[in-house]
Amino acid sequence: MTKTLIENGWVIPMTGRGTTWPDGVVAVDGDRIAYAGSKSGLPGDFKADRRIDAEGKAVLPGLINTHLHFVGAFNKATTEDAKKEGGNSFKRGILFQEDHVRKEHVYLPGLLHGLEALRTGTTTVNEMWWHQPESARVAVDLGIRAIVGACVREMNTGTIDPSRNERDWIPEVAERDLDDAVALFEEWQGAGDGRVTCRMAPDGPDRMRPETMDRCRELAAQYGLGLHLHCASVPAEQGFMEKAYGKRAVNFLHDHGCLGPDTMLVHCVFVDDEEIALMEETDSRFSHTAYLVGKRAYYPPMDKFYASKIEVSLGTDWMSNDMFKVMRAAILLGRITTGDQALLDAWDALELATMGGARCLNMADEIGSLEAGKKADLILVDMRTPWVAPVRPENVVADLVYNANGSDVTDVMVDGRLVVANRRHADIDEAELIRDVQAMADTVWADAAPLFISRPAAE
Ligand SMILES: [Zn+2]
Repeated sequence: MTKTLIENGWVIPMTGRGTTWPDGVVAVDGDRIAYAGSKSGLPGDFKADRRIDAEGKAVLPGLINTHLHFVGAFNKATTEDAKKEGGNSFKRGILFQEDHVRKEHVYLPGLLHGLEALRTGTTTVNEMWWHQPESARVAVDLGIRAIVGACVREMNTGTIDPSRNERDWIPEVAERDLDDAVALFEEWQGAGDGRVTCRMAPDGPDRMRPETMDRCRELAAQYGLGLHLHCASVPAEQGFMEKAYGKRAVNFLHDHGCLGPDTMLVHCVFVDDEEIALMEETDSRFSHTAYLVGKRAYYPPMDKFYASKIEVSLGTDWMSNDMFKVMRAAILLGRITTGDQALLDAWDALELATMGGARCLNMADEIGSLEAGKKADLILVDMRTPWVAPVRPENVVADLVYNANGSDVTDVMVDGRLVVANRRHADIDEAELIRDVQAMADTVWADAAPLFISRPAAE
């Protein structure tokens, strides 16, 4: 087993606020961290086979993204400004995926979108979509740690209409998805030397009949897997839930036994105090997609979430998988929506993106911080750039969060393997991948062209 010593960097272990080692070292033995701390404390018997010079760089745990869809690469820049064009960003993105993105369009863009996550410092993703053997293949080929969720819905999600608050159920869609989920769990749970695990991912409480939600919960229990769901995502969701069942989304999930520490609820924008209390009471976990929801001009009541005991983490959703953007959005939008400048600081944001993610996924014993015995999932970030330098050691976390970018990540180690070195992936030819995905995107976008022209024709 290779022994690696990462030396001369600013080590930010995320073991406690204020703990950094300006000239720290991280020793890696195989897939585990053997030591992280000051240079003087390195055990004398650690003999490195490989040394990585981190001078001028921050060394920190890999970031943990608790909600994304690898498949979202083709949604980039096509939905964010839909409103001004007379459209709806959620609806346009979903309709595009429903009607134009097929199984054969999942792997390649997924590899590129996943490469963005990895190259910008994310080492663990909580992913969900359909055609999931493709996403599991993406995770294995990227060398990233992934929880791959099998999505289930019982409708064409693109038909959601806030003015109608009705759903047209298509039971055969749910049957197919449930079958696909079983196939995924049977084949991919534990793949990639254990880096790939699975979850059940009911698309949302308003996107299937209650009895189908029960079947999702039962199937997850049968395989011993957690749940991953969109919840209270868009205004049309709560409107439907109240009309159809006389209860709100989180109350509905509670009544169907879907809440608890193995459940990740995503977005949670339109939740009331009772729903937040239910999430807290059941120890349900929350993926806050700050950058994504900001684009839709709405935001969860984050002051209430932070004041509660609910475990909070950060997710990208899609279109951008750069967690640096999400950390900054969480700080800025949180402060703006509450008027409280002290709501979240840089250390808090980095904590959400590391240990917060690990706790939310029940993986805190394995990942999320640089500590002896944990998995060697870590990143190096260049701090000697015009936008970050000069660095005051006491403020290195603030400098990293406010001023560094995902593209400043130079090296990424997952499970002890250096999957990105000097900004290059060990196995993937990035230029070739970009060329191939562009060609595929051109074709898929051409097919979907009418969807992108919602602006009334010019006079
Ligand atoms: Zn999502």
